[in-house]
Amino acid sequence: MTENTIVARLIRNLPGRPDVVMGAGDDCAVVRTARTARYDTLLKSDPVIEGVHFEKAAPPRAVGHKALGRVLSDIAAMGGEPLWVVVDLVLRDARDARWATEAYAGLARLARRAGVAIVGGDTSRGPARELHVFAVGRVPRGTAVLRSGARAGDALYVTGRLGGSLAGRHLRFEPRLNEGTWLRKHGWVTAMMDLSDGVGTDLPRLLTASRAGARLEQAALPISAAARGVSSRDGRPAWQHALGDGEDFELLFTVRGARAAAFERAWRRRFRLTCNRIGTVTTRRGAVEFEDQYGNVGPLATRGYEHFV
Ligand SMILES: [Mg+2]
Repeated sequence: MTENTIVARLIRNLPGRPDVVMGAGDDCAVVRTARTARYDTLLKSDPVIEGVHFEKAAPPRAVGHKALGRVLSDIAAMGGEPLWVVVDLVLRDARDARWATEAYAGLARLARRAGVAIVGGDTSRGPARELHVFAVGRVPRGTAVLRSGARAGDALYVTGRLGGSLAGRHLRFEPRLNEGTWLRKHGWVTAMMDLSDGVGTDLPRLLTASRAGARLEQAALPISAAARGVSSRDGRPAWQHALGDGEDFELLFTVRGARAAAFERAWRRRFRLTCNRIGTVTTRRGAVEFEDQYGNVGPLATRGYEHFV
């Protein structure tokens, strides 16, 4: 069973309230705390667990950075501004005290840079070390960027370069907060999400929400040096690593086709970070087509990271 099927089952009959703008199914939940509020509130939580999201030997500061970075990446994907976080910490026993102090130093460093306050949390004992971060953010009322706004003809973009994250980037990535805010504020994006499990798994999620399909171009994929490195060792093509490795924590988003050229010029004026058009949204609902380097078109076979396989 895949994560998608499990989650679909879990969220089928959740209790709601009239002040929930967007419940489960996007990068963050969106709620409206007052009818006259100028901002909508974003909610997100995420765990990082030893042996799953980081190895025992990973530097604890980097683990702290990753734990907060993951939720900030989701807030970025809504075009939002992060405000406050609480942190739950699971340790094996008192020997982990020093590890915890270092992990908190990593959390605090990124929090300071992102203008986020760490306002509490809880600790518990458990079989493995874990950090759970719950974040609250905001976005001007009614402007949260959802996954559901893509339409046929939209251009499909990713920030940065993809693949090979396990070689180190998964512990050091920068959540794309400035980019996400800018994309929302200037009205460029029609749909957006962050890449946690790889384009191969995450793009179908965006397309499902938007009831659309897409065609990806192999030649356009921004492949990271790390992905090329892994590819030269394991013999799998680098583009498969770019689509399937996961933990890129880049932004995947769509822009109206007619505005694509203007968008690309504006991006280059504003950011040094690379941003690449990797394909186009189509009417073929649910279908991801892949155009290889020779121009052959077929269904995309590469899937991203699956948590439960
Ligand atoms: Mg996400």
